[in-house]
Amino acid sequence: MRPDVLVVGAGPAGIAAALWARSLDLTARVIEGGPVPGGQLHRLHFHPANLAGVPEGDGAAIAAAMARQLAGAGIAVECGVEAAALEGEPLAPIVRTARGGRLEAGAVLAATGMRRRRLEVPGEREFGDRGVSYSATRDRARFAGRAVAVAGGGDAAFENALILAGCGCRVTLIVRAAPRARAEFRARVAAEPRITCLAGTRITAVLGGDRVRALALAGPAGERTLEVEGLVIKVGSLPNGEWLAGAMGLDAAGFVPVDAGLRTAHPRLWAAGDLTRPRRPSISSALGQAAAAMAAIRAALRGE
Ligand SMILES: Cc1cc2nc3c(=O)[nH]c(=O)nc-3n(C[C@H](O)[C@H](O)[C@H](O)COP(=O)(O)OP(=O)(O)OC[C@H]3O[C@@H](n4cnc5c(N)ncnc54)[C@H](O)[C@@H]3O)c2cc1C
Repeated sequence: MRPDVLVVGAGPAGIAAALWARSLDLTARVIEGGPVPGGQLHRLHFHPANLAGVPEGDGAAIAAAMARQLAGAGIAVECGVEAAALEGEPLAPIVRTARGGRLEAGAVLAATGMRRRRLEVPGEREFGDRGVSYSATRDRARFAGRAVAVAGGGDAAFENALILAGCGCRVTLIVRAAPRARAEFRARVAAEPRITCLAGTRITAVLGGDRVRALALAGPAGERTLEVEGLVIKVGSLPNGEWLAGAMGLDAAGFVPVDAGLRTAHPRLWAAGDLTRPRRPSISSALGQAAAAMAAIRAALRGE
C-alpha cells in the first residue's frame, strides 16, 4: 500500500520523523541505505554533552536506544535500501532505489544527512584498519606514543592532533591550504612541542606493507616521504544529496535548500537534518526539523 510519507535515511532526523508520523496519524515507510539505523551517531565515540535529556552514552548507545524506541513503536526500518533518484509526477513522487525498486508515496522526507569526506588517494582504503583512522578519540590507545599524521585544517583536525599529542604521539599536522581552525585550537597547537604543522601540503599516497609506514607528500619544498605509523583523516563531510540532483536544484555544495517549513523546491519533497545545511549540524536540530517537517507534510497532504 502507498504510504503517506516515505522517509529516506534513518539517522536522528529520519528516526524522529518516523516517530512523529506515528503521532500525527500518518502512515510511513522508512528506508535506510546502511546496515543499521543511527547515521552519524555511529561516529560519535563520546557522549554528546550538548544533547538535552540524554545524560550519558556515546553515539552508538544513543543509536541503539533510538532503534529500540522504533521497534517498541512497531516501526520497521528497511535497511540496505539506498535511494538512487526521485522521479514521478510532481504530486505523485516515486523513489527509485539503487537495486531498481520503485517506491511510491504521498510525500517524501529526505533525511540522508552527511558522510565523511575522504582524501581519495592511493592507500587510503587499502590501509583502512591498518593505520588509517578517522577518529583519534576512538583510536588513541592504538596510536599512543607513535609518530602519526593528522590530515585537515579545521577544528576537528586540530583537536585530533591535540588529543594524539596528549597520548605522547609525535604528530605532523598536514594542512592542504592554510589552517581554518579557530584561534584557540591554533594557539594550543602552536604551543604544543609534539605537533609540527605542514601548511600548503597535500598527501598524495598512503604507503606501507602490512600496515601504514609512511605518507607521500607534495608541498612548497617539492615531494617527500614522511615516516608515520598512523594517519587520522579529518577533512570534513559531504551531503548525501546526489539522489535528488535530477529532481531539483541543490546548492553549490550539494545541500538541499529548504524554506522555513522544511519544504524544498519540489512540491512533495521535504527535507530535515544535516542535508539541509543547518547553521549548527546537530542531533537536536535534526530532531526538531524532523518534527516540523512532518507537521508540514501532514498539513499539505490534508490540504490544510
Ligand atoms: C564525529 C562527530 C561528532 C559529532 N558530535 C556531535 C555532538 O556532540 N552533538 C550533536 O548534537 N551532534 C554531533 N554530531 C552531528 C550529528 O551526528 C548530526 O548532526 C546528526 O547525526 C544528523 O542527523 P541526520 O539524520 O540529519 O543525518 P545522518 O546522521 O547523517 O543520517 C543520515 C542517514 O541517511 C542514510 N542515507 C544516506 N544516503 C542514503 C540514501 N541515498 N538512501 C537511503 N539512506 C541513505 C545514512 O546511511 C544515514 O543513516 C557529530 C557528528 C560527527 C560525525
